[in-house]
Amino acid sequence: MSRFSQYVNDLFIWNEQMRQFLQSEQVEQDTELWHQLDEFSELIESINQELSTEQLLSLQAKAERIHQQMEYYFSRKQGMGVGTIWTEERQLSPGGHTLPELPYAYNELEPYISEEIMRLHHDKHHRSYVNGLNKAEQSLKKARETQDYSLIKHWSRELAFHGSGHYLHSIFWNNMNPNGGGQPKGVLQGEMNRYFGSTYAFKKQFSEAAKQVEGAGWALLVWSPMAGHLEILQSERHMLLTQWSVVPLLVLDVWEHAYYLQYKNNRADYVDNFWNIVYWHDVEMRLEKALDKRPGI
Ligand code: MN
Repeated sequence: MSRFSQYVNDLFIWNEQMRQFLQSEQVEQDTELWHQLDEFSELIESINQELSTEQLLSLQAKAERIHQQMEYYFSRKQGMGVGTIWTEERQLSPGGHTLPELPYAYNELEPYISEEIMRLHHDKHHRSYVNGLNKAEQSLKKARETQDYSLIKHWSRELAFHGSGHYLHSIFWNNMNPNGGGQPKGVLQGEMNRYFGSTYAFKKQFSEAAKQVEGAGWALLVWSPMAGHLEILQSERHMLLTQWSVVPLLVLDVWEHAYYLQYKNNRADYVDNFWNIVYWHDVEMRLEKALDKRPGI
């Protein structure tokens, strides 16, 4: 596929996503947004030959305009001055997680995964992660209110275990589809080739990682923002006291090597003194970048 037809193909997918988004947001059929999107659909569906650069640029401009209008529409609808259409992102209060619906029926992944497994896995297992996460968040809220942190280790563990369980399963369901299979395309294929050498090499390593996870766990293809490349990781169980899918903003190293020479075994003083040198500006910048991330990612 040429770069141009690749771009048109991407537009096609984008267009389809926008339509699904409008549908999921229950935007009425007679609004300007739907008209715009309909026109745009007709336009790209009528493309049957290689486009000139000019025509491509005009297509791109049209797509951007629609996107802007969508953002405007949704920011108004939510009574927010700024933001993107993705900021309709829920801001959950402690204990506010709910079990997401599967994007397909329980039996639709057959014969590869049976209906029985899907039903149990989603409705029983995933639900218990959601409940466990809610409970941990609520218990920690209570700890903040009463300033009683005697069970912090327990609730942090629960937070990590159930949180990772909930987030990973939410990603997992969407990573599969009855219309799935085939080969990766576009930027994903590009990044795979660049880092792993080929799609084949990636699949091979990912499969091996999955097969050789010690005990229960996951194989994960991740993007490393610091390294600027893809990576494959294994996770034993869900976590080691982390929540996959979260973005670190402020971290404090409490390995002994970080304080022992000066504080000996007095980690508490080291932690208390940390607040004298925290660079909030950096934390704030990291949060702003994280807020740019689309929900569900
Ligand atoms: Mn599972």
